[in-house]
Amino acid sequence: MKIHDISMEISEKMPVYKGRNEKRPVFKTVNNLKSGLSYETSLDINMHTGTHMDAPLHMVEGGETLESIELEKVITKCRVIDLTDVSEKISKNNLESNEIQKGDFILLKTKNSTENILESDFIYLDKSGAEYLRDKKIKGVGIDSLGIERDQPAHDTHITLFEAGIVILEGLRLDGIDEGEYFLFAAPIKIKGVEASLVRAVLIEDLQDL
Ligand SMILES: [Zn+2]
Repeated sequence: MKIHDISMEISEKMPVYKGRNEKRPVFKTVNNLKSGLSYETSLDINMHTGTHMDAPLHMVEGGETLESIELEKVITKCRVIDLTDVSEKISKNNLESNEIQKGDFILLKTKNSTENILESDFIYLDKSGAEYLRDKKIKGVGIDSLGIERDQPAHDTHITLFEAGIVILEGLRLDGIDEGEYFLFAAPIKIKGVEASLVRAVLIEDLQDL
């Protein structure tokens, strides 16, 4: 069995959505071993930082919150699809040759994992790609950008996926991960009533060797 960590490291210097400073996490040491009995840190962090999961409330008025999403959806078999030759955006025509099946959890590996474009011109999934995945009835999709869409004022990609009950993971790190099948573990932190949560995501290879 081999475990691949596909999570981003959380730090003050990490890439954040569109490079916006207000999105950077703030660490504070609230106690240390010189002044107190223990070392403790508090972290002020936007839930859409680094590797995270979005829930429907993120874009849909009155939408479901994080805790209503079953763990079976994010602890599951998955498929990594290599789209590193795609520029700008992933559309239906980039996905059609991949024999995507009903119930699949698809991870989209793009140039976002291999080039320094995360904060600006990141590769995203466009509306036609989201509709294609919806029509294929997949259960989840993950991408290696900090947002699964950009420059879509009506948020078509998010809304198309949410309305179909498709789980969205963002901020994956897929450099060094080959196209193929894996077991995905991407459980979010159990926070009540929110629209997203940080996730420690890993891919497990050869799970049957346990
Ligand atoms: Zn998000």
